[in-house]
Amino acid sequence: MYRNRSLRLLFFGIGLAAVIALTGMNVYSLYELRESSIEAAKDNKKNQIEEFTRQVGFRFMQPFRGVRKLDVEYLQEYYQQHDDFPQNLKNVLVEASRDSIFSSIYFSPDEKDHCLDPSQPIYEFEHRSREFLEIPEVSELVCDGLGLARSRMKVLLDDYRWNNKITFDSHRSMTLSMINLEQRQVVGHLTFLINPDYLVGDYLAVKLKEKFGPSDQTGIVVWLRDYMQETILAESEAGYEYRRDLQIDIRQRFPDMLDNWILHAKIIDSPTIAASNASLTRNLIVLGLAVISLFGALVFMFITAKKERELAQHQAGFLANVTHELKTPLATMQAAGENLADGRVNDSERIKTYGDHIYNETIRLRKMIDKLLDIARIDSGQTTVQRAPHRLDDLVRYYYESHKSYIESKGFEFNLEIEDDLPKVRVDSDHFETILNNLIDNAVKYSRNEKRIDLQLYKQDNKVHLAVKDRGIGIPKYARHQIFKKFYRLEDSLTARTKGHGLGLSIVENLVMTNHGEIRIEPNFPQGSIFIVSFPFISEEVTAELSEPKKTETIYNRVDIELQ
Ligand code: ADP
Repeated sequence: MYRNRSLRLLFFGIGLAAVIALTGMNVYSLYELRESSIEAAKDNKKNQIEEFTRQVGFRFMQPFRGVRKLDVEYLQEYYQQHDDFPQNLKNVLVEASRDSIFSSIYFSPDEKDHCLDPSQPIYEFEHRSREFLEIPEVSELVCDGLGLARSRMKVLLDDYRWNNKITFDSHRSMTLSMINLEQRQVVGHLTFLINPDYLVGDYLAVKLKEKFGPSDQTGIVVWLRDYMQETILAESEAGYEYRRDLQIDIRQRFPDMLDNWILHAKIIDSPTIAASNASLTRNLIVLGLAVISLFGALVFMFITAKKERELAQHQAGFLANVTHELKTPLATMQAAGENLADGRVNDSERIKTYGDHIYNETIRLRKMIDKLLDIARIDSGQTTVQRAPHRLDDLVRYYYESHKSYIESKGFEFNLEIEDDLPKVRVDSDHFETILNNLIDNAVKYSRNEKRIDLQLYKQDNKVHLAVKDRGIGIPKYARHQIFKKFYRLEDSLTARTKGHGLGLSIVENLVMTNHGEIRIEPNFPQGSIFIVSFPFISEEVTAELSEPKKTETIYNRVDIELQ
């Protein structure tokens, strides 16, 4: 038995550990899956933002598509001869000056640095006349752009393979240096001042909105931020405020231009992430429910096994007790019968004593057999009931009169109190007698020094109630439901000494319910218990059970007696 128990515990533990491990693994892999889909969504968004910065770069290059095809050696020659540029370059410049992204265009020959030596010439392109006009001075912006391009070309020139190089001075200007590759010489620099209002307000802000807004569809918000000035220049969705404490998922600079500007992006549950979040939650719920059910099933199995073991123990004990209790009266009766049969006892007093013995033991035996038969009937699910209208006061009074002297002989004060004009109730009178018998038997058995039993019959709430009150050992609150279970006996020194098998009240409850009644227990004052059995008035029953066809019925499994 102990080995089986340990084995069951071991398997239970292994099962539980397996369930926990499986759950853990599942949750972990779901989490991984979710993380990788978030990563994939992030990579996808990052690519989109990179693509966007490349598009911005192309936007600046738009007017210069033909520059690469220009023959810079020829340009240089032409410039040296005419102090002017040929038409094909001018065409490019006209196109650039029409583009609102640039505000003005300047030319500075490489060897004549006006910014270092103001006596050197510098030119501004006038797109209407298509002429370069020499101007006395230029703004710092132009000089900054030119300076940057000049120093970059000094480093690059030796290994450079193209005939032009574009250098950005952040978002302020763009300088195109023209290179004579044969002579490894820079011919001059064309500086295009950038129009920041157009660039930000009319181009970047619009493009950001076009490409990344609204976030509930694209799953991303993008801000254009000047990190030197710490300002937000444009955003993909007006409703989303940029905050410094915001967790930024992607940071992307522009390639070789707009140095002080950066794109910040936050991924808002994109459809992929939302879907994988939803699937994680769904899976977790299903998994949780599965674990709970599995755990519940294991616990249930464990509890049922425990109950079955207890029941088996009870039944084994019950069988031993019953055998003993059947044998004892039989042995007494056999001895008394033998003595009488021998004819050795002539004394009338002793004959009466033996007769009494035989009579009392027969009663005891009958009670025992009745109980066993009742329980057998209940267990087989077939209780026969013959309900008929009865006056409970008649039944109780009859019982009282016939048992009074016996109960009083046991030292009890036995009282009966009956309310007048009690209506009839529909019960099986045999069942009612068994109920009364068991309750009074218990009241006698479980009383110590205070020996008093009160029977009360009264009406209340359209029911007739029978209260059996004793001054015995009482029943603690926790046990008031338990004691109706089969084989249940309270742990008490008096109970231990008292003969019984925990069957009486289970029979009582079953019979009460079979007769459509109720039973409950209350504590008596100052000590003891009150068992109250109630049956509805016939008038109430008639309305509730108009369809009931017979007074005599056989009830199959009407009441399911709990097995423990
Ligand atoms: P039995 O009396 O044969 O043990 P019952 O089913 O009649 O079986 O009662 C179950 C248990 O309920 C008893 O063992 C006892 O512990 C408790 N009990 C029943 N009636 C009373 C009572 N009137 N006062 C105190 N305890 C009671």
